[in-house]
Amino acid sequence: MAPLAFEISATIRHDGQGGVADGLATVELTETWIRANAPLVEEVLGGPSVEEMPGGSPASSSLRSRGFDFSALVVDDGVREQLVGVRRAVRSLFARAVSPAPPSKADDGRLLDSATALRRLNEAADALGSAQLEWPDGGEPIVRWAGGATEPVELLLGAVGRSGIDFLASPDRLRLRACPAARCVKYFLQDDPRQTWCSPSCGNRERVNRHYQRKHAG
Ligand SMILES: [Zn+2]
Repeated sequence: MAPLAFEISATIRHDGQGGVADGLATVELTETWIRANAPLVEEVLGGPSVEEMPGGSPASSSLRSRGFDFSALVVDDGVREQLVGVRRAVRSLFARAVSPAPPSKADDGRLLDSATALRRLNEAADALGSAQLEWPDGGEPIVRWAGGATEPVELLLGAVGRSGIDFLASPDRLRLRACPAARCVKYFLQDDPRQTWCSPSCGNRERVNRHYQRKHAG
């Protein structure tokens, strides 16, 4: 499964008609995206909500295992705009990661400078507080969070920010590419050093275009 930061970046895509479609363009689309990606949000936060561990000590009562309760989140235009803001930070840092190759064509003129993008990503992630590992006898390790936000919207934005940090600090960053196909606006993870296009369909379309251009150039 692609990381959450990658999924939010992919909400900007080619619309099939030469334009760009935005999967976060409306409140309704944003709600659909959040619902579809709730499992990835949970993954970043450390698994399903556990109110109290069985036999939990009083010392752990200030720590929470943060499940992401989608039903508790009211998606409105404010939430949508905040999510778009974090996405812009992610895509700006993706553009930096692929440079000196050009960024996605959808990002022309929309990129934040690196310092602003980093600050925005870090601020979003910071809302989560600090991750603490608990490992009960005979149980599985659990991530709990000390301090930080409890509102679903902050958890959502925090999870996206945290995912961006983890991704950009990982070796996977080196496999990030902006698809160079004429109408494609995707970032993708290269599976193989020879992979040029995000998908076989982009590769085929480009081969046809180039063939056509050669034929008509002379
Ligand atoms: Zn492509």
